[in-house]
Amino acid sequence: MLFNIPCEKRLRWAYLLLSVIFFLEIVTARISDPLFYWKTAPTVIFVTSTWLSYFFFCRQVRRRELEEKKANEAVAVPPGPRKPSFLWQGILILLPVVVLTVVGLYSLRQDRLLAEQDAKELGATTALRLAQAVGGTEMVQQLIDYRNANFALHANWTGDLGLTIRRGVSKDGDAASQQIKAWQQANPGLDLSAMPVSDCGLNIRGEFSRPQIYPFSPPPPDWLFELSPEQRRLWQEEEKAEFVSNDPDAAEAAITNFIATKPPIGARANAEFHLLLLKTRGLAPAQAVAQLAESSWSRSDQLTEAGLPVGQLVCYRALRLLPDHAGVPDKLFNNMVWAIAYRASILSPRLIAEAERVAAPGTADARPSVAELKAWWDSDEKARVVLRDFEEQHSLAAWTNALFWVESSGGRFLLAQEYRGRIPKGQYPDNSDPNCYGLVMLPQAIVDKALDAAIAKADVLVPPYAVAALEIGGKELALRRDHFLMATNLAALPVLGEAAGSLSDRPLNQVAYPFRVRVFLADSQILYARQHQRTLLFGAIILASTLAALIGLMAARRAFYRQQELNELKSNFVSSVSHELRAPIASMRLLAESLERGKIADSVKQKEYFGLLVQESRRLSMMIENILDFSRIERGGKNYEFEPSDVGAMAEDTVRLMRPCAAERQVELALRPNGGAAAQSFVCDAPAVQQALINLIDNAIKHSPAGGRVAVGLDGVAAELSLWVEDNGQGIPPEEHGKIFERFYRRGSELRRETQGIGIGLTIVKHIVESHGGRVTVRSAPGQGSRFTMELPRK
Ligand code: ADP
Repeated sequence: MLFNIPCEKRLRWAYLLLSVIFFLEIVTARISDPLFYWKTAPTVIFVTSTWLSYFFFCRQVRRRELEEKKANEAVAVPPGPRKPSFLWQGILILLPVVVLTVVGLYSLRQDRLLAEQDAKELGATTALRLAQAVGGTEMVQQLIDYRNANFALHANWTGDLGLTIRRGVSKDGDAASQQIKAWQQANPGLDLSAMPVSDCGLNIRGEFSRPQIYPFSPPPPDWLFELSPEQRRLWQEEEKAEFVSNDPDAAEAAITNFIATKPPIGARANAEFHLLLLKTRGLAPAQAVAQLAESSWSRSDQLTEAGLPVGQLVCYRALRLLPDHAGVPDKLFNNMVWAIAYRASILSPRLIAEAERVAAPGTADARPSVAELKAWWDSDEKARVVLRDFEEQHSLAAWTNALFWVESSGGRFLLAQEYRGRIPKGQYPDNSDPNCYGLVMLPQAIVDKALDAAIAKADVLVPPYAVAALEIGGKELALRRDHFLMATNLAALPVLGEAAGSLSDRPLNQVAYPFRVRVFLADSQILYARQHQRTLLFGAIILASTLAALIGLMAARRAFYRQQELNELKSNFVSSVSHELRAPIASMRLLAESLERGKIADSVKQKEYFGLLVQESRRLSMMIENILDFSRIERGGKNYEFEPSDVGAMAEDTVRLMRPCAAERQVELALRPNGGAAAQSFVCDAPAVQQALINLIDNAIKHSPAGGRVAVGLDGVAAELSLWVEDNGQGIPPEEHGKIFERFYRRGSELRRETQGIGIGLTIVKHIVESHGGRVTVRSAPGQGSRFTMELPRK
């Protein structure tokens, strides 16, 4: 059905379809795309070149048709100058697709570059906005709030413990307490009292550190090396009497002598401490505790031989004498606090534990509780741990006005360091390197919280395909879904934008601490998702148009060669017709001339000549009848008149009519009717059926060798009637069974003209049979003869 439509019409439909597809594409591109003009350019080029190629193709078809018309008008076709080639048509059909593909691919690439450029611009803006947020007031305010609250808490503790002048403020009315409360309410997830003290100080030997960093294995005190031989002897004598011979009197005498030698202050403190212990040895616990608490040495920061502070040891001894929950006497508690505050040591936690044991449960006295001392100690102790780790993790060379991350057992901390200058010479024993640094210790949870708050306030959104990283204190924090995490492997990702900033406004010391924000491309799939979609769409369009172009190319090529073949057949037809006409006319003229001139006197001979004349003219009229019929069929003007006819009689007549022809070629023509009554009043166009039968018989005679046999048969059943013609001629190869029914088709070489004919006989047969609603079949093979059957249905 499709192939009955002329090829240019098919092409026109295909191009119209393509144009509609592209029009739709342009509409969608206009709606969804800012790169509209880029997208539509290839489409416009494609559609224009498609129509151009169509226009050229049609022009060529027209031109060829005109040539053919001219050729048909002429009797003989002069050979054409050169055969037209399909090459240019092919190029014109394929060119638009090639142009579309190239421009499409180029615009896709351009698309990708634009997407990257957009991402970079957005990345740079995001980095800048993040940097502004991190370095802005919200971040700084958060850190200041924490530092102030932490400071207030420590001021309260130390004030209550009597260590600073801020002592004595009432808990509820105090501004510091209000500050602490407010912070705690604002940060419900964080426990301020569990945080290490934030304001710390450090020098390279740790001696002037704040909080004090004490050695885990205390070194022997200096005074031990400053003793004279005499003093050393007396000291050993005392220890021997006290601990070996257990002679208190001798020990007391030795101490008194030792003190009389005016030993160094540390030695003296130890001697007096021993004396105190000896004196209180036999006393009742309460009396002994009172004496120990009253002693001025219970506040001493001098060290014993083992490197422990004397004051803490006095307090410890006193506490050991007291039973559980007896309550810590005020004096003893105060001495204990001072002793710990002035020289923290490995004994301090033991001393506090002892105080906790002795402390009366639930006492609501005015004096600061042991619990407060413990909280203060713990907070300092946590800071000590971090400071020790800091010294281990960051070399002295790196110590400067900078931020440092410290990995500690209590978590990760950000330390803001500031150089504070040199410690005055008098305060430092050996003047070696008295540089002093201030440190603000910030737990990571606090930093995270501040960052989150700052970013939330600035309302910065990181694009879904990106990850932002904050490089602060030499480490990178990756911002993932509004939360910062320590980043591990961002270095491999492409950078979209970056910005620098600094934490200033004096939140942490006086220093502006620099940081850097970088925005990385984390998920390129998300970034290129739209572009990927477009690639798919374009790919599909290119594929579809390539397919359409290829189909068009094939159809056009087929049509082109068919047309060429048809032209050839037609020109052959014309020469065949002229040839076929010339032969009978020539022989008829010869016969008629001979008769006219009276050359043939013999009456038998004359009769034979007349017979030949009749036969030739019959052949001529048969051929002309065929040509006229064919022309009617081609124009669609052939009409059939159906009426009941005696097909059997018609077949008999036809065979009789064709016998002379057969005889001429020495072929035996026989009729084998088997139609019976069915053939008698069969509704059909009898002349047309006869013409078809004549054509078949004529072919069978033409293609039979001399002495061959042609049989014409009639088989009738209730539903249909079969008229067949069988010969034992050369036969037809199966692959040509279809072609022989095509117009102008003749087997074999036209140059040799082995048989007469013009190639329209079977076309007419087919048309006649199909007009009767039947079909014509052929059963034939080379060398085995042929049998053509017309199957006509009963109306
Ligand atoms: P033509 O005028 O050449 O006979 P036709 O349309 O009648 O044209 O036949 C087409 C071709 O079919 C012939 O050229 C011939 O080669 C082949 N053909 C037709 N009938 C027979 C047959 N009975 N035996 C062999 N070939 C035949």
